[in-house]
Amino acid sequence: MKPTFKSSTRGCIYVESVDLKFFEGVADMHVVDTHEHTYPYEVLTSKGLSIIDILEGSYVFWVTESPEDRSDYRSLVERLRRISGSAFYKACSIAVKELYGVDIDPPTVEALEEASRRVREAYRDPRWIREVFKEKSLIDTALLDPYWDVWGGSFDPDLFKPVFRINMFLFGYSREARDHNGNTPYLLEKPLNLEVHSFDDYLELVDRALKEAKRRGYVALKSALAYDRPIRFEEVDEDEARRVFEKKGVDVTSRDVRAFGDFMLHYILGKAEDMGFPVQFHTGLALIEGSNPMNLVNLLRKYVNVKFILFHGGYPWIRETLALALSFRNVYLDLCWLPIISPSACRIMLREAIELGFSGRLMWGGDCWVAEATYGALKMFKSVLSDVLKDMVEKDHLTFDEALDIASKILKWNAVELFNL
Ligand SMILES: [Zn+2]
Repeated sequence: MKPTFKSSTRGCIYVESVDLKFFEGVADMHVVDTHEHTYPYEVLTSKGLSIIDILEGSYVFWVTESPEDRSDYRSLVERLRRISGSAFYKACSIAVKELYGVDIDPPTVEALEEASRRVREAYRDPRWIREVFKEKSLIDTALLDPYWDVWGGSFDPDLFKPVFRINMFLFGYSREARDHNGNTPYLLEKPLNLEVHSFDDYLELVDRALKEAKRRGYVALKSALAYDRPIRFEEVDEDEARRVFEKKGVDVTSRDVRAFGDFMLHYILGKAEDMGFPVQFHTGLALIEGSNPMNLVNLLRKYVNVKFILFHGGYPWIRETLALALSFRNVYLDLCWLPIISPSACRIMLREAIELGFSGRLMWGGDCWVAEATYGALKMFKSVLSDVLKDMVEKDHLTFDEALDIASKILKWNAVELFNL
């Protein structure tokens, strides 16, 4: 390709015109974001918003402690300095710089205080979240997993399409049991107008919930069960699950809980197959001893007509996840969260996935709680995507047009097709 020179404010810089065209092409692409937990405006603004909430919604306090005193910016700076180079912090600081014009990387007390002021100012406008998604990030649609309100549906329907969390259905063996988010399936008795007395009633509750979810426009089912238990689900007889249910929570053993959950997950997948629900599956991290995506093999093999979307590249098991996609045509790869866990891991996985022929089975989501974090995560992902594809063009592995086509599929069109948007 022919090098060209372009003048900029920093003087005359050397650029490859084709590179520039490619990076700009990807930067301008519209996006379907396949996974978010974006808190509603009222939830966020009800608590005196500050930069701490933006950092929290960007996973920064997964890798460093949050300050006990929210006004103690000095200790916040100290804690942020301990994690220099963290991709969670990097994505967040890119967003704060580009959306609010404040550079918080490396962190200083003054910059963080100024960022808090600008965040509060921006959120005076209830349309700010929507503006960050639609106008600043070019996200046309985002799939929302509101686990704090699985049935309520308080979201902007022009931006978000809901997915239905199924975790709670594995905890119906007792009215007291809860999934890791504190949800119980019995919260649906009232809205679905069904009192559960028997195991058959319970299955009827699940059936009605899934039908109603379909009618309401939920576009997929979502399992975050890797936070509740290992994701190996054995085949269990209905009689065994019925026996556990009939204990009504008395003397229920951990084996009972596991067996009931195993049966229910298979039951739900059978329904997903009949109803055409794709199923998003959290894999990797979470309860680390049980979240290896290889645990799902029996399900992938049995439910051939269910589209399984494996999340997060199964990190750290990215190669296992790729091997699953090679072995099973019903496996799709969602790189959500991965670019902000480790852009390097995402780069490796993305390139190998394209080489393995999965460009039609890849997608991306932010997996964040605040719009700023999503903005930063998308910036990180578009940068990884451009780097990988540009390099493949330079090595004559792809043509320029093929690379652009792959980018737009991954950013939008694969998800449009899969979720029927
Ligand atoms: Zn998530």
